[in-house]
Amino acid sequence: MRVMFSTIHRRGEGVTGTIVVLQDVTEQEKLEQSRREFVANVSHELRTPLTTIKSYVEALDDGALEEPQLANRFVGVIRNETERMIRLVTDLLHLSRLDSKQAILRKKPTSIEEMLEEVKDRFSFQMKQKRIKSNVRIEKGIHTIQLDRDQIDQVLDNLVSNAIKYTQEGDLIELEAYKDGPDRIAISVKDTGIGIPKKDIDRIFDRFYRVDKARSRSMGGTGLGLSIAREIVKAHGGTMQLESELNVGTKVTFTIYTPQEGSEAQ
Ligand code: ADP
Repeated sequence: MRVMFSTIHRRGEGVTGTIVVLQDVTEQEKLEQSRREFVANVSHELRTPLTTIKSYVEALDDGALEEPQLANRFVGVIRNETERMIRLVTDLLHLSRLDSKQAILRKKPTSIEEMLEEVKDRFSFQMKQKRIKSNVRIEKGIHTIQLDRDQIDQVLDNLVSNAIKYTQEGDLIELEAYKDGPDRIAISVKDTGIGIPKKDIDRIFDRFYRVDKARSRSMGGTGLGLSIAREIVKAHGGTMQLESELNVGTKVTFTIYTPQEGSEAQ
């Protein structure tokens, strides 16, 4: 809190009053602090793959090029790190478009059942590899709603790929859609995976926040997936929540606003 005083003078009467201005700077300071943290995080996240690329290029230059097997391995590492950087920059651009409200939503009537079944199909290979079972449940009466299919697909892809990443072999992933009041549809992705410690849950939507940085990195994560997902949901007039218990599982639920008047929700 910043307190500023100024006195009111009237000619011939001297001081006749005082103005006290109380300015709440905590919010401003918090914003500034999170902006600084964000820049530091971006720099660090980009610097890590760049340093790796540099050292492998140097190793190739220093003679590894002469040994085809070694050279192949090094080129593979360079390719992976480059792809990581591309993913990161793509995510950052997407976030910045969402932040500046430049992301235009192209809403179309979309069948919720078809959309959830298709996400399940997209990940069927990965789930099969980990012997993960999945099911889709749609509450009666939910048919089509207006949404930007590409964007909501990205939300679902993020949630389902997290559910697969942080779930043990043979577990279960459930996708569910239900009515959440007269003008909202809720969609949830629930897993029986490793869960998230209580102390981390409040920060889980923060940009670059990961419970286990090394694990997330090794799985190709950027730490931006949940932040992007939440911004897309916000743009659809909805909210996103995460419930989780360590070693029990995680459930992420988001809502989509479906106005009654002229709405496609039936
Ligand atoms: P990442 O790219 O690291 O997956 P996200 O923003 O998608 O980034 O997720 C942030 C962090 O939240 C992850 O690093 C992980 O620690 C945790 N997390 C997200 N989803 C789950 C889940 N279903 N189960 C356990 N932990 C999760």
